This record gives sequence, C-alpha cells and structure tokens, in this order.
Amino acid sequence: MSQKKPFITLAQARAIAAEIPTPFHLYDEAGIRENARKVNAAFSWNKGFKEYFAVKATPNPYILKILQEEGCGVDCSSYTELLMSEACGFTGSDIMFSSNETPVQDMQKAYELGAYINLDDLTHVDFLKEVAGIPKTVCCRYNPGGVFELGNGIMDNPGDAKYGMSEEQMAEAYTRLMALGAEEFGIHSFLASNTVTDDYYPKLAGILFELAVRLHKRTGAKIKFINLSGGVGIAYRPDQRSNDIAAIGEGVRKKFEEILVPAGMGDVAIFTEMGRFMLAPYGALVTTAIHEKHIYKEYIGVDACAANLMRPAMYGSYHHITVLGKEDALCDHKYDVVGGLCENNDKFAIDRMLPKIDKGDILFIHDAGAHGFAMGYNYNGKLRSAEVLLKPDGTFQKIRRAETPADYFATFDFTPFFKKII
Ligand SMILES: *Cc1c(COP(=O)(O)O)cnc(C)c1O
Repeated sequence: MSQKKPFITLAQARAIAAEIPTPFHLYDEAGIRENARKVNAAFSWNKGFKEYFAVKATPNPYILKILQEEGCGVDCSSYTELLMSEACGFTGSDIMFSSNETPVQDMQKAYELGAYINLDDLTHVDFLKEVAGIPKTVCCRYNPGGVFELGNGIMDNPGDAKYGMSEEQMAEAYTRLMALGAEEFGIHSFLASNTVTDDYYPKLAGILFELAVRLHKRTGAKIKFINLSGGVGIAYRPDQRSNDIAAIGEGVRKKFEEILVPAGMGDVAIFTEMGRFMLAPYGALVTTAIHEKHIYKEYIGVDACAANLMRPAMYGSYHHITVLGKEDALCDHKYDVVGGLCENNDKFAIDRMLPKIDKGDILFIHDAGAHGFAMGYNYNGKLRSAEVLLKPDGTFQKIRRAETPADYFATFDFTPFFKKII
C-alpha cells in the first residue's frame, strides 16, 4: 500500500496555526505548478492545447493567478466566477464559459468578456442572439445519451444527465449559428466524473473526434477546438493508482492521429477543463483534535466540520487522514473522526485505523484542494475557514481570511441589534 505523504510537517503546521488558527485549507504552490507543467507537457504535441481550470473547484484568485502563470485559462459557469476571472486578468480566449440554465446577466457578461461560450442546448442559440449577440466562435456541448462505459467497470449515465444536446441538435445549432454569422466552432462533452483510469480522455476523444468529422462533413462547420472538459480523477485512497497524465495525453494523441489528421482536421486545438486533477492533491484541510468521546464507538471531535469539506458527508467520499507528527506510528486505534454539526453524517472518517490521537493533535485531511473549500456552507452558523498558500520556499501566505460573525450577519438589515453585537 503506497503511503500518502502530507506536504507539511507538524512543525510547519504549528507555525502556521500560531498565526492562523485551525481549521484552515492549505495549498501547496510547488505541487500545483509541477502538476500543471506535467499537464502542459502531456499535450504539448497539440499546437493549440490549453487547460481551462474549472474555477468552481477552487475559486480563489491567488490560485487562479498561479495557474495563469503556468499558461492555463479558466472555465467559468457563473457571473461571479466570470468577475473573479476578469479581476485576475483573464479575457477573451482565456475563458471558457460552460454554464447551464444560464441567467441573462451571466450570458451577457461572458459575451462582453469575449469568452468562448459553450451552449448547453439548441434553444440557447436564440437565447444568446437575443440577450447578447453571436460571437465569431461558439462551442456546443454534446450528450451522446445512453450509458458510457470504460473497460474497467467505470460507468456513467449520459442519458440521465441534464447537460448537452444530441448530435442532430448539434448539427442544427451549427447550421443556425453559421446563418447568424458564427465562423468557427467548438465541441465540448463531460461524460464521467473522477475517473481513475488513463482510458477516459482517449475514449472520450475518440467519440468527439468522430463526431467532429461527421459534423464538419454534414454542416461544413469549421471545428476550431474540442474540449474534453473535466472528469480526470485522483487517487483519494492510498491503495488506488494515480492517473498518468503523460499516458493520457499520448492516448489522446493516438486518437487525434487516427481520426482527425486523415480527415484533414489536424489543426483542431485540444482543450481540457480539469478542476480536480489540477488542485485536489495539492490542498488539505488542516484541523485540530479538540475532543475525544468514548461511547459505543470511539470518536475524535475536530474543529473543522462538513461545512468546511462536505464530500464525505455528501457522497460518502474517502479522504485520507494523517495525524501530523505521528506519520510513522502504528495505526492501531479505530476512530470516527467527526465535526460538530448537528447532523450525524458530519464524519470525516468512519471506523478508520489511525494512531492514538490526543487532544491538540493536528490532523491533515488530504486531497481537499478541489471541491473542498468551494463547497463550503454556513449551516449551523458555522463560518468559512481561512485559506493559506504554502510557497515553494516554505513560507506561507493567507490567501483568504476566515469569516467572522460580521460576515455571517452582513446580509441582514432589519435591526441595528446585529450591528451592536459584532
Ligand atoms: C465540474 C466541471 C469541470 C471540472 O470537473 P473536475 O471533475 O473537477 O475535473 C469541468 N467542466 C465542467 C463543465 C464542469 O461542470
């Protein structure tokens, strides 16, 4: 079993916690950069390649700036994500706008920024024309329907998914968009989430490349890019294998040579829109054990809760936990590691074998860098934590302060009472 290693030591965690109390989310800048470089290298065979980081996974401008320096764009799905991206200096073709059930304001903002707009439905052709205008390049999202299966048992159900349009509708959308002045087109699809196999992107690429050839022949549309979207997973469990991004890039290249090049479409750019793969392993939730409880089971109560990281409560997801300073100790105690919400699913780990945990121990909850802080909420009046960046030189920087009660009450305006108590 491979051991998951935290990217900080106990001494580093203590130094940060002395200034920024736990719980906090911590990100590893060196890890983020190294991984982004591997992604770009894996697809360097494709001239127009660009990774558009899915902002929803880790919406923090400091993180976006790091990825921008590594050559990434951003994938936005809402007005505020567009505003954050604009503030970071992303414009025009640096931005993919992949939304669904899109409000007017969001669509207008995407158009104003010159983003690549990804239409989720045929009816959005008219919607886009009416509320904003038809850009020179437009992308359409594809849903093949049915069941999507990969060799190793991974399956997803596009037929049940609300996203995208059928091939018939894609063809009609392109034809109508061309009549309205669009000149170049993108194809986008997201068929399976958190896949831990090097086959997902190549298989998806095969489907989309063949679709691109058919759509081009049928409508005459010029296909400018194909966006493989997100869905590349990570090894949350220590015994899982990690995706090999170089092998994934090579698998996509083979399909490209097989399908697009012979069709005279070797100039198509490949885009990706990964969130999880870009950030999840390079972020952690750092929390302190504040209580222990011995009833029918053994509990360790920590100062973080599901409001800081909801994946275990929401999906039953596994997040590995390391007790800092006890990395090499025997895991001979069985614990439920729990947060303080009045919800019995607020458990970061259930029946987990860990070293003996004492009050004051600092726990490192792995792989919280994507869909972690981002999915936070304020249930039970819990406040969002700080976010901290660990820099390559070992120093740290607070990149978002923790919420205070004043933030929690900020949207009330019915009595001066709140102003007095905070
Ligand atoms: C969520 C999402 C992504 C990112 O997915 P990951 O699994 O985090 O890589 C990319 N594109 C779209 C449209 C999404 O909704």
